[in-house]
Amino acid sequence: MSHTADYGAGRFAPSPSGDLHLGNLRTAVLAWLFARSTQRRFLMRIEDLDRVRPGAEQSQLDDLAALGLDWDGEVVHQSRRLRLYDEAIARLERAGLTYECYCTRREIQQATSAPHAPAGAYPGTCRDLTAAERAAKRDSGRPPAIRLRAEAAYYTVHDVLHGEFTGIVDDLVLRRGDRTPAYNLAVVVDDADQGIDQVVRGDDLLSSAPRQGYLASLLGLPIPHYAHVPLALNAEGKRLAKRDGAVTLADRVALGEAPADVLATIAVSLKLADSGEPVSLPVLLDRWDPTQIPREPWVHLPV
Ligand code: GLU
Repeated sequence: MSHTADYGAGRFAPSPSGDLHLGNLRTAVLAWLFARSTQRRFLMRIEDLDRVRPGAEQSQLDDLAALGLDWDGEVVHQSRRLRLYDEAIARLERAGLTYECYCTRREIQQATSAPHAPAGAYPGTCRDLTAAERAAKRDSGRPPAIRLRAEAAYYTVHDVLHGEFTGIVDDLVLRRGDRTPAYNLAVVVDDADQGIDQVVRGDDLLSSAPRQGYLASLLGLPIPHYAHVPLALNAEGKRLAKRDGAVTLADRVALGEAPADVLATIAVSLKLADSGEPVSLPVLLDRWDPTQIPREPWVHLPV
C-alpha cells in the first residue's frame, strides 16, 4: 500500500514478552482501524528494551497478519535505536533537566505511602541532594537512574475518547540504573521520530499520557492525538491474562476456530458485527465509526 507522510501515522507497539491475547489483538485492530480510516500509515514497533521472550516477536507478528492486519515499512525495534534515546537524554541533561537518583524501589514505595505524597508520583528524594550527599550515594556503588527534573506537577493531553485528560507529571525515570532507556522516554522519542501523530493503545496507559506529553513538550516534539481504548477483562473484572483460558490466537485455533472467527469475536465486541456474521477487515473499515466504540471494558468469558 502506498501512503504519503502528509496524513501522519498510527502504530501498534507490542512488548515481545509472550503471545498477544484477545485484548491485545483487539487493541491492534482498533489501532489499525483508527489509522486506516484516516488515511494514515500504520507502523509496527517492537518495544524490546526489556521483557523479551525468544520467539514472541515472530508469533505476535504472525498473529496480527493472520487477522489480516497490514503495516507499512519495516518493523522497527527499540533495541536498535539506542542512539536516539541517548541523544534525547543528553539534550535534557544539557538543559539542566535531569538528576541522578539512587533510590531503591522499596525506598520509593515507603516514601510514597506517606500521607501527603501524591499517589504514584516520585517523592523527589534525590532531586536536591547536596554535592556531599550525592558523593556519598555515588560511593555506595549503586548505579543511579536518571530522572527528569519536572517543572510541572500536572499536564493535560487531549484524548479522542476521554477528552481533556489531566494527570500527574512527576520526576519520571529517563534511564534506569541498568542503563536501559525508560519506556516513557523511548515511546516519546520514537513516536516523534517515526512521524506518529495518532497513538491508540489500552487505557491502562492513559495515566502515562500526561507524562509523555509533557516530556514531548520539553523536547520540542509534537504531541500525538491519543485514543486510549478500553481493555479486555476476565470474569473477575481483572485485566485479561494468559491464565484466563483460551485467550491467544493459538489457543483459539487449537479449539478449532480460524483466525477469521477470532476477528469476528473482536468485531462483535466492538459492535461492528452481529454474532455469527463473517467479517473481514475491509468490511470493518467500511463500518468503522470511532464515535461509536464501546466505552466500557470488554468482559471476555473464555471457553
Ligand atoms: N509496549 C507497550 C505494551 O505493550 C505499549 C506502549 C504504547 O503503546 O505506548 O504495553
